[in-house]
Amino acid sequence: MTSSRLASAVYGSRLRSAAEAAKKAGLDGLLITPGPDLQYLLGSRAQSFERLTCLVVPADSPASVVLPRLELAALAPSAAAELGLAVHDWVDRVDPYALVASLLGTPASTGISDAMPALHALPLAAACQAPQVLATPVLRELRMCKDPAELDALRRAGAAIDRVHARMGEWLRPGRTEAEVGTDIGAAIVAEGHTESAFIIVGSGPHGADPHHEVSERMLERGDVVVVDIGGPVEPGYFSDCTRTYSLGAPAAQVAAQYAVLQRAQRAGLRAVRPGARAEEVDAACRQMLAAEGLAEAFVHRTGHGIGLSVHEEPYIVAGNDLLLTEGMAFSVEPGIYFPGSWGARIEDIVLVTADGCEPVNTRPHELTVLPD
Ligand code: ZN
Ligand code: ZN
Ligand code: ZN
Repeated sequence: MTSSRLASAVYGSRLRSAAEAAKKAGLDGLLITPGPDLQYLLGSRAQSFERLTCLVVPADSPASVVLPRLELAALAPSAAAELGLAVHDWVDRVDPYALVASLLGTPASTGISDAMPALHALPLAAACQAPQVLATPVLRELRMCKDPAELDALRRAGAAIDRVHARMGEWLRPGRTEAEVGTDIGAAIVAEGHTESAFIIVGSGPHGADPHHEVSERMLERGDVVVVDIGGPVEPGYFSDCTRTYSLGAPAAQVAAQYAVLQRAQRAGLRAVRPGARAEEVDAACRQMLAAEGLAEAFVHRTGHGIGLSVHEEPYIVAGNDLLLTEGMAFSVEPGIYFPGSWGARIEDIVLVTADGCEPVNTRPHELTVLPD
């Protein structure tokens, strides 16, 4: 499984940074159950069940893993063994929550992963008898700034989803349903290098006006504008996420004109990305361009979201977020315009913040791609 993970040294340094971040945040430790945080810190894709699996990261002593003995095999493909992490496997007569609490001594406060089920969070709080906060703000600095291996994975994910968009003409045709098209796209997402397809939006005609539409039995018609937003993970777990909008036949003049404004707005967003800019400035750049052409009301969501081991993570590119962008951050720039009952369009690229601007990992043309009708 080594090929699907990063070198164990990477996880060793992430664990040390996490302990430091916990200490800086005034916490005695972090409790991380299966999910993106565990994947980030240990390279483990273990799942959460009713029996507790938990990575314990004390602020001042080495990390260890608490897990049910019957899940020992699930830990094998992680960095735990190579890093020499202590593993405390427990059997059914043992209280795993008391075990975790004992590993932290008498903690004054702990950070718990957002993905922790209440089933475990409440007994852990009782056993530790200490206030708990979310670990996300503590781990945020680490997870937001991608290292070279992570940036490389995001580039590979971007290239893979671009290859799927390049083939859209094979599937988007009048007379086929969104669901049929979605099935073909799902197979291509895997064929082009993802480990699975995570989401598929084929929003045709009026469905394009619903930003989170998935697929339906609606049949594509001549003249439809179709929003296609797709993605999935590539090894070792980093996501692609890319939207392009297609037109089945030449678009109406009004559609073409409004789409051109959207294209300018997305370009303005890309231009606003650089180290030292604030996240909200990227959102404002897109929004101002649309507002100048009377389309402010048509843009109903934030401009973007961070991406990595989760499809949606920090930093969020949204009004009110004054976070300073720094080199190594990865997020989407995805303005859209939506006209309920009629049509919609969105253009989405994932960008990596570079020393002096940004590098989009998606390079398909931004134009409204006209397919034969
Ligand atoms: Zn979304
Ligand atoms: Zn998307
Ligand atoms: Zn997105």
